[in-house]
Amino acid sequence: MTQPAAVTDLIHERLAPFPRDHFLSAGDLNAATVPPLLDLADAFVDFNRQSSKSLDLMRGRTVMNLFFENSTRTSASFEIAAKRLGADVTALSPRTSSTAKGETLIDTAATLNAMKPDVLVVRHSASGAAALLSQKVGCSVVNAGDGRHEHPTQALLDLLSLRRAFGDVGGLTVAICGDIAHSRVARSNVALLSMMGARVRLIGPPTLVPGDADRWGCEVFHDMREGLQGVEVVMMLRLQLERMEGALVPSTREYFRFWGLDREKLGWARPGAKVMHPGPMNRGVEIDSDVADDLTVSLIQDQVEMGVAARMAVLAALSVRREADDPSTASRSPSPSLRDREETR
Ligand code: ASP
Ligand code: ASP
Repeated sequence: MTQPAAVTDLIHERLAPFPRDHFLSAGDLNAATVPPLLDLADAFVDFNRQSSKSLDLMRGRTVMNLFFENSTRTSASFEIAAKRLGADVTALSPRTSSTAKGETLIDTAATLNAMKPDVLVVRHSASGAAALLSQKVGCSVVNAGDGRHEHPTQALLDLLSLRRAFGDVGGLTVAICGDIAHSRVARSNVALLSMMGARVRLIGPPTLVPGDADRWGCEVFHDMREGLQGVEVVMMLRLQLERMEGALVPSTREYFRFWGLDREKLGWARPGAKVMHPGPMNRGVEIDSDVADDLTVSLIQDQVEMGVAARMAVLAALSVRREADDPSTASRSPSPSLRDREETR
């Protein structure tokens, strides 16, 4: 592990403006801007393993966590990330009735905007909510999950876990399995993994694989044995019963039999294959505890740790971007390397 002063120096060295004003989807990054962001996140991983974890990169900044959908893990992860960077954090979990959602979102945005936050982290059940909000507020918006659309920081943390486990994701074959239709994690991961040169397969029952999935640039399989053949990474998804209209699966027991990852099915993947899951897991439904808890194959705990580091990298980089755009602080801004790379493409 890097020494305390050295790791702080490394963070400062690697800190560069985020390529966009907001982080709404995986498409806000590209093959040139991802690696430096992951390098920064790597430095935060080392930093987070120290006993003292406080930085002042976001001192005086206000981060608001606005979670219209239930979340404990993701909101905690963002909150810890922001606090470790020295920001003030406020968490709001407004209750919405499904009929008034659009209106509530805009109203809430206007109210919060008047309080002058610097970053708004938003989760909402409607696809496109974060993008809509970003047009209404003066701060940076981070999409922490919008309906079944995207969850870009999840894909970034997954990429960080994979890069640390395999060195390089280019050329890896990753199978994303299960409830793809309702998964924003799948959409963001397909985009980011493909961008970085991984091959992505989608495996699931026809009722849970979107009809247009063949246009995502992935191979689609409706059989686990066939789909897992030769893959290095098996990414399981939660069965999102709360997003399903009507019965798309016969029963959870039946689902596990065909689609749940256990030792036998994992045996169909390449030897040494790693297992991922974004959480929260339905144990015994899409994944067996025996596999999920085996640290020799499971990256699941690792993903949680990487989540904080990846979110620190995003928040810190967004904050530098805002500072660089603010004429009163322009002279303090560090190297614009991330944006340069973006603009030369
Ligand atoms: N939705 C889940 C939770 O809030 C998991 C996540 O947000 O990552 O616990
Ligand atoms: N936590 C992830 C999400 O919020 C995955 C899940 O909930 O299944 O999308």
